[in-house]
Amino acid sequence: MKQSRMFIPTMRETPQDADSLSHRYMLKSGMIKQMAAGIYTYLPITKLVLNNIEQIVREEMNDIGGVEIHMPVLHPKELWEESGRWQAYGSELMRMKDRHDRDFALGPTHEEIVTALLRDELKSYKKLPLTLFQIQTKFRDELRPRFGLLRGREFIMKDAYSFHSDEASLDETYNDMYRAYSNIFRRVGLNYRAVEADSGSIGGSHTHEFMALSEIGEDIIVYTDESGYASNIEKAACIVPEAVDSAAQEALEKVPTPGVDSCLSLAEHLNIGLMDTTKTMVVNIDGEFVMILIRGDHELNDIKVRDYFGAEDAEFATDAEIRGIMNAAPGSLGPVGSSIPVYLDHQVDVMYNYPVGANTDEYHYINVNHGRDFEAAGTGDFRFITEGEKAEDYSGEVKFMKGIEVGQVFKLGTKYSESMNLNVLNENGRSVPVLMGCYGIGISRTLSAIIESHHDDRGIIWPKSVTPFDIHIITANPKDRDAQDAAEKLYEALGREYRVLYDDRKERAGVKFADSDLIGLPYRVVIGRGIKDGRVEIKARDSEETVEVEIGQVTEYLK
Ligand code: ATP
Ligand code: MG
Ligand code: MG
Ligand code: MG
Repeated sequence: MKQSRMFIPTMRETPQDADSLSHRYMLKSGMIKQMAAGIYTYLPITKLVLNNIEQIVREEMNDIGGVEIHMPVLHPKELWEESGRWQAYGSELMRMKDRHDRDFALGPTHEEIVTALLRDELKSYKKLPLTLFQIQTKFRDELRPRFGLLRGREFIMKDAYSFHSDEASLDETYNDMYRAYSNIFRRVGLNYRAVEADSGSIGGSHTHEFMALSEIGEDIIVYTDESGYASNIEKAACIVPEAVDSAAQEALEKVPTPGVDSCLSLAEHLNIGLMDTTKTMVVNIDGEFVMILIRGDHELNDIKVRDYFGAEDAEFATDAEIRGIMNAAPGSLGPVGSSIPVYLDHQVDVMYNYPVGANTDEYHYINVNHGRDFEAAGTGDFRFITEGEKAEDYSGEVKFMKGIEVGQVFKLGTKYSESMNLNVLNENGRSVPVLMGCYGIGISRTLSAIIESHHDDRGIIWPKSVTPFDIHIITANPKDRDAQDAAEKLYEALGREYRVLYDDRKERAGVKFADSDLIGLPYRVVIGRGIKDGRVEIKARDSEETVEVEIGQVTEYLK
């Protein structure tokens, strides 16, 4: 492809409004153009990389027997009412009406649609197992779209759904998916880790998240090298060593009315019962400590903190408004409510997240964030307790790191098949609900995660597996006719074996080099003065070394 014919609107200046490195580089290298908050046009380079990621995903899905389909983006409200998620999904669900005043949602995930599809088609267990997948634009009205494609409101997801007549079959597909995901994230060049994850209050369900390790990540992973244990901190309920324990105690003691009373009055106010998944959070609002309770499936908008507490508590609440606590039905692919999506008008310091009943036998710190809530992790014997499971003993150093959730695999069980009547006749002729699994990968988020981990201070360094082109040919002096001719010929020759981007623009060499570093193709071939002796310069993007090669030897050299 000739660069003069491409559309790569690179920027000289560093964009000011970018809030992450990948966002900045994508804007600067002319990969995306923002249309509205969290909504982007993917320009040609982005599209090529997305195609490559999708290709890898398709290969791995096909390899485990996944069958590709394409489901509608517009979802009738009625289906979402059947599953209970028209309510439960909250404001993250983009809603609209058609000309007949009928309600629709723009699909954020497709459990309802695929369950409805199968219940009309599936009669007997003999058709199972079945795994369907699609790659499609998803819509979520994220409260805080940010970091470019990492958290968009319109983004590309691969979502897969599997159907089974028995647990063993679900287990098998789950394990296949786990393996396929591991392959995918390895192949696209991510340093990732699969971690145990929170399944919300669906309870007992099994789920893993795939985390690309990165400082920009919004998730925290707790792990030990010794035991191999790794979990999203949202799920890990861990009896941590003394040092941390006392820090937690101290934070709690500062709360005027610690724990239960505040929670109970809040629970009463919200008309909910206290459950194991209920968590409290101690926040510091304008110097006052306040406890806030979060539950798995509630959405609250514009409720004043003072409303959360009974009269006697009112003095330590302020006018800070809770803008929204966005949680969806637990167990969905949606925004499972276990992180701390609480947004306040004021700048608040989150002091401590504390599960109700913490320090009792089974429940300890859930959602305690290292660095934010405490510094030392400490070494010693400890136990990780995961909800609904028995405590497991480990020893070793508890460590933390940040990750970007690029994928999640989930055993749904009969959650949707029961609420939406997806049954089959089993071997004994009895009608039973179908077991389901769901499996998501953020394709566009994965692209950003790749940039977050493959770059230097001059730009992106694409891994070969996903790079938009293999080689960048550049002529240093556009006025040099010989160089121009040689470049044209080399472009044709290399084009037979490689995907080549040829910078034929009438720009200064400096501009071309800067753009080329920014765009980050694996190899750059520069046709400069050496061409009069039949030589060109080759440089790999991830190396500082430049090698002079005879023009006839370039194909050979790149092998
Ligand atoms: P998060 O916790 O980051 O909000 P999620 O758990 O809500 O993500 P899932 O419902 O598990 O997301 O969706 C499957 C995948 O889709 C996620 O693992 C992630 O890679 C991707 N994804 C989810 N939300 C977004 C978004 N707003 N922008 C880009 N990718 C997203
Ligand atoms: Mg998540
Ligand atoms: Mg979410
Ligand atoms: Mg998820």
